[in-house]
Amino acid sequence: QAKKSGKNSACFYDPEMQNKINLRIGLERDLRIGIKEHQFELFYQPQVDNKNCVIGAEALIRWHHPKQGMISPDLFIPIAEETGLILPIGHWVLETACKQLQQWQKNSQTAHLTLSVNVSYKQFRQVEFVSQVTHLLNEYQLEQGKLKIELTESMLVDKMEFIILSMQQLQSQGVQISLDDFGTGYSSLQYLKRLPLSQLKIDRSFVSDLEKDANDKSIVETIILMAKALSLNVIAEGVETLQQKEYLAEHGCFCYQGYYFGKPMPIGEFESLESIKSD
Ligand code: C2E
Ligand code: MG
Ligand code: MG
Ligand code: MG
Repeated sequence: QAKKSGKNSACFYDPEMQNKINLRIGLERDLRIGIKEHQFELFYQPQVDNKNCVIGAEALIRWHHPKQGMISPDLFIPIAEETGLILPIGHWVLETACKQLQQWQKNSQTAHLTLSVNVSYKQFRQVEFVSQVTHLLNEYQLEQGKLKIELTESMLVDKMEFIILSMQQLQSQGVQISLDDFGTGYSSLQYLKRLPLSQLKIDRSFVSDLEKDANDKSIVETIILMAKALSLNVIAEGVETLQQKEYLAEHGCFCYQGYYFGKPMPIGEFESLESIKSD
């Protein structure tokens, strides 16, 4: 029986679409197994100051898939967010990061390091999120200012009062908050002024073309000025060349993260970097 095909009806079998759906279902099933079987690891990417000394790290999750090898977070975090699996995964990330910070605190050579953790909007919006963090701060006896939470502008679209309150509660317990991928969203100065932030993180898309692109230059300069105006720290991500670092330094940005200084790496490798030792 022939039906009139409406705009939204899927009448035709589309093998490519079916492929994507199967792949997606497979990954979701594997993610559930991955959580049970502890297939995740945190990598650590150095964050350095103007003298190339490591001042901290960003924790970046890696998934060791038993058949497909290492799967990028850009691929599985969106699925984890849609399915709610980001909640157990995000909690594991936070707890692992806090344990690591406690280890660093115990050793005078690493006690100065901060650790940034990415938190998804879904995780942050949970009513229990702040109390979970409070619990971890107590359990691992973390010093003020060591744990940083990276949020993106995209999560600041609604429930603003609740989000600001949670941010304030975290800040009052010594947790720093960094706005990740900054410049890719729509935050205005007026709006940023209301948020209890510690840091703006310049998105790497602006840093990568810094040498060639006049627009990126002015965006980067503007972000640095915004950070100054709001008394916030500023860090640039995706720094791959000395020229980029020098440009940033000349314009008042003195913290950097990027392949030029080090890729995300397993904990053993990170801890053997000479430049992490304080003196
Ligand atoms: P992000 O938080 O903006 O992290 C920075 C990404 O840029 C990382 O990719 C890092 O490896 C990459 N990167 C750093 N320096 C350079 C550079 O110089 N050049 C280039 N081309 N890339 C650089 P990664 O590790 O693949 O993570 C991708 C994204 O996945 C992260 O972006 C973050 O949004 C998300 N993510 C990673 N780990 C977690 C996690 O534990 N929880 C949540 N919710 N999201 C995570
Ligand atoms: Mg980040
Ligand atoms: Mg980023
Ligand atoms: Mg990103």
